[in-house]
Amino acid sequence: MIIVMKPGAAQSSIQAVIDSIEAKGLSAHLSKGEEVTIIGVIGDKSRLSTENLSVYKDVERIVPVTESYKLSNKKFHPEPTIVKVGNTQIGPGNLTIMAGPCAVETEEQLMCIAQNVKASGATILRGGAYKPRTSPYSFQGLEEEGLRYMQTASKETGLATICEVVSQDAIEAAVKYVDMIQIGARNMQNFILLREAGRSGMPVLLKRGLCATIDEWLNAAEYIMSEGNPDVVLCERGIRTYETATRNTLDLSAVAVMREKSHLPIIVDPSHSTGSYKYVPSMAKAAVACGADGLMIEVHNDPAHALSDGPQSLTFQHFEELTRELKPFCDIVGRSFQ
Ligand code: PEP
Ligand code: MN
Repeated sequence: MIIVMKPGAAQSSIQAVIDSIEAKGLSAHLSKGEEVTIIGVIGDKSRLSTENLSVYKDVERIVPVTESYKLSNKKFHPEPTIVKVGNTQIGPGNLTIMAGPCAVETEEQLMCIAQNVKASGATILRGGAYKPRTSPYSFQGLEEEGLRYMQTASKETGLATICEVVSQDAIEAAVKYVDMIQIGARNMQNFILLREAGRSGMPVLLKRGLCATIDEWLNAAEYIMSEGNPDVVLCERGIRTYETATRNTLDLSAVAVMREKSHLPIIVDPSHSTGSYKYVPSMAKAAVACGADGLMIEVHNDPAHALSDGPQSLTFQHFEELTRELKPFCDIVGRSFQ
């Protein structure tokens, strides 16, 4: 449930409500907006049955929250959340572009890609050092060595960095070298990993699972947030359907639905969702038009020889053209980038 306080409620009234919730062994989550203060209750609310909170001073109303996710729920936190990563902010007003190779291959390759994506307006460098590949015989990533190259590229260019993590060991390594960690689609319901990501204190990009519903995705975010980490960004990357013309089916309606259900920022990955460089520009523009807070795009210096996901990677030229073409879309939706 949430307790909505009257506009201008006194601090002492707010504290009295919080104290009564905590006295029952529940936790209170405070969201203070410009006008309204909301107190969310987390835990077994049946314990509050003897407490009539509606008679407390300055309480306006009590609203039940039936969804199983609370901290990621917009009812708990009506204002949109802004997640800071390095010098960038992911949230309203900005279009954050994360770009880079699927996999970090060599230091030279990463540096060259970092400089090029920066010149075209990306503010976050992506690069996989731990690659959860469909086949165990495919390139699995450079692991810690790849993370070190990400750090070097960040120092050289000033770009913030993001890297996927697949285990507790990978999280421990990533916190030393990069600015944001990514939980990939295949791990969206790896609940132990989600909790560890929450405990890491790092901003987390949470990709939607291949077959996950929106509610399952928000519950996955809840696992991270319930460890005390509010810095979660959602990423729609396509879901499995019967359609085989594209690698996955990009569910852009997820952006609109998430806006209604959650305060968390949401970005779109047109690369993994379509699986083809040809479809990336149109889906990227559509994502901006429907209100995404950012994009994750795979870019490679030589897609034909990429060790992973070459067919969906943009060349530098294609990426530069795309970012130019995105500008009018950003103007229409009131976002800036670069
Ligand atoms: C990736 O971003 O490199 C990746 C593997 O993405 P996903 O988890 O969406 O497949
Ligand atoms: Mn990839």
